[in-house]
Amino acid sequence: MLYRLISYFIYFILCTVFISCSHKPEFVQLEVIMPVTEIKKTHIISRNIWTREGVNAFDIDKMTKIYRITIHHTAIIEDSGNIARVKLMLKKILAIHKHKKHWADIGYHYLIDREGRIWEGRNINFQGAHARGDNNIGNIGIALLGNFDIEKPTLLQVKSLKDFTLKLQKKHGVRRSQIFGHEHFTITQCPGKFLIPIVDGLKRRYVSN
Ligand SMILES: [Zn+2]
Repeated sequence: MLYRLISYFIYFILCTVFISCSHKPEFVQLEVIMPVTEIKKTHIISRNIWTREGVNAFDIDKMTKIYRITIHHTAIIEDSGNIARVKLMLKKILAIHKHKKHWADIGYHYLIDREGRIWEGRNINFQGAHARGDNNIGNIGIALLGNFDIEKPTLLQVKSLKDFTLKLQKKHGVRRSQIFGHEHFTITQCPGKFLIPIVDGLKRRYVSN
């Protein structure tokens, strides 16, 4: 009897080990790298969390010295900060930029969702495609998810934008006079009537270095 019990026990352990070793989908690994609770304010969620698509290396310029920052909205109404939904939205924007407009990659360097999370878009080592032509030179593109002609950005989005632009200003030596809304460069509603005054506020704020 004891011998049989020990046999069952060993069999159970071996099965458990086998199952746990053979069923590890890749997406679980990714979520473990960047748990939701840790990515909220201070981290930038890296690109490989939401897409595996590379860039068209033949059609993209290297980023030169960074000296300005431009703020956008995505102009798509977004009422959820749900992570799975944000990932889908980023994929959708990437598809529009890359496969419909035939750009080398998503145009923006960073995107901020309704929960204030910051997502990496185009790698900062590459010049963006967000402000038209030469306006992209040395210009970091940040887009907030939403249509701010119709809705207001959330408090978390605004806080995140303020903190993040300050961080970028200090890191790259960007003067506050060099923070712009997209409408500064071309005729557009972007970043929307509810976000433009906030961008103006960023230009006026005192930054100590
Ligand atoms: Zn824009």
